[in-house]
Amino acid sequence: MMVDLPAVPLLDVCRDNDALGDEILAAMERVVRGGQFVLGPDVRRLEEQFASYTQSSFAIGCASGSDAVLLALMACDVGEGDEVIMPSYTFFATASAAWRLGALPVFVDIDPHSYNIDPGGVQEAITPATKAILPVHLFGQCADMQPLAKIARDHNLALIEDAAQAIGAELDGRRAGSLADVGCFSFYPTKNLGGMGDGGMLTTNSEALADRLQLLRGHGMRPRYYHQQVGINSRLDSIQAAVLNVKLPHLETWTAARQQNADRYGRLFAECGLEDDVSLPQTQGGCRHVWNQYVIRISGGRRDALREHLTQAKVGTEIYYPVPLHRQECFSELGYRDGSLPHTEQAAAETLALPIFPGLSGPEQHAVVSQIAAFYGAAMPTLEAAEDRAPLRRSA
Ligand SMILES: *Cc1c(COP(=O)(O)O)cnc(C)c1O
Repeated sequence: MMVDLPAVPLLDVCRDNDALGDEILAAMERVVRGGQFVLGPDVRRLEEQFASYTQSSFAIGCASGSDAVLLALMACDVGEGDEVIMPSYTFFATASAAWRLGALPVFVDIDPHSYNIDPGGVQEAITPATKAILPVHLFGQCADMQPLAKIARDHNLALIEDAAQAIGAELDGRRAGSLADVGCFSFYPTKNLGGMGDGGMLTTNSEALADRLQLLRGHGMRPRYYHQQVGINSRLDSIQAAVLNVKLPHLETWTAARQQNADRYGRLFAECGLEDDVSLPQTQGGCRHVWNQYVIRISGGRRDALREHLTQAKVGTEIYYPVPLHRQECFSELGYRDGSLPHTEQAAAETLALPIFPGLSGPEQHAVVSQIAAFYGAAMPTLEAAEDRAPLRRSA
C-alpha cells in the first residue's frame, strides 16, 4: 500500500548548517583574507576546544578520519606483519589503514545488540603477532571498552578507538576519544560534527603519543627539512577548522536533537505493533548514545523489499554496511568465507538506517514510520506520537 506523505531525505546537511550560514561564511572569509591556509591559529584553537570536549589532554588535527586511523596505527608502531584486531562490520577505512602499513586486519564478530566488537572474540583472536586492538564506536555508541582495555593491558597491546561516528558519546561518563591510547575522529560532512570537506582529529592523553602524531602528520619533519621519521602529509586545512570552530559550540544542541529524534521513533514505532518485524536500536547500559545513525533491523528477509518500498515513497534510507569487510574482494586473500562471522553477516543482511539528522521534523518522522507501517499493513502511528514531550535535553 502506498500512502501520500511528505518525502524525507536521509540527511540534509544544508538544513542543519543553515542557521549558521553567515557566521560560517565570515569565518571562511577571515581565512581567505588572512592567507594562512594550512594548520595555523584556527586549527590550534579547534585542537584546544576539541581536546576539552573529548576530555582528552591533546588533540591533533589531520586531513581525514581515514588518515587519523592510519596515523594512530603508525604512532603505535604498527607495521609489516603485525596483526590488528578490529570489527568487520565497519567502514572500510578502519581496515585499510592497517593494510596500508603492511599489517593484517584480524576481523572479529560483533555483539548483535550493540553492533560493536565482541570482547570475547577479541580475546580469542590474540596471537603472538597481535599489535593493536581497534574497536569502532559504531552508529554513535561506544564499544565495550572496559574488557578491551584489560585485554590490551594484559597483552601489552595498543588500544585505538575509531570514534569517527561517536563524537560526544560516553561510556560511564567518559567521552569517546579518552577511552584508549589514541582516539580517531572524522569531520566528513555526514558525521555528527561535519566540516565542508574532509578533515579529521586525533586525541590522546599521552604527551609522547601526541608529539609523535604531530610529527607524523607533517612528514616526520622537525625542524624544517630535517626528517626524523617517515611521516605523511596529513594536515587540517584552516578553512575546515574555521568552519568547525563555528559549529563545535552547537554540537551538544544537535546531539540533543538526535536523541530526541531517536525517542520519537521509539514512540511512533510503539503504536504500530511491528515488534516481530522491526527491531529498534538499543542503547547499552552506561552509554550516552549520540545517534550518528538510527539503524533498525528487519527480520524475515524483507529488508531489501522494505527499502525499495521506502525509496518509492521518497523516504531516504541507507545500508551500513551491505558487504562486511571480511567479505570484500580486496581482502579475499585473508581467507574468510561466508559464515566466518555470523552476527556480522546477519547484521549486514538485515539492517537499515533511517533519517535521524538534527533538523528532521516530527511530521517527517511520522511519515517515515507511516510508510513502514503501510509496507506491513500495520496500524498507522498518530501524529501526536511525534510531538515532543519534554524540552530538549542536553545530555543522555
Ligand atoms: C567515516 C569513517 C571513517 C573515515 O573518515 P573519513 O573522514 O571519511 O576519512 C573511519 N571510520 C569510520 C567508522 C567512519 O565512519
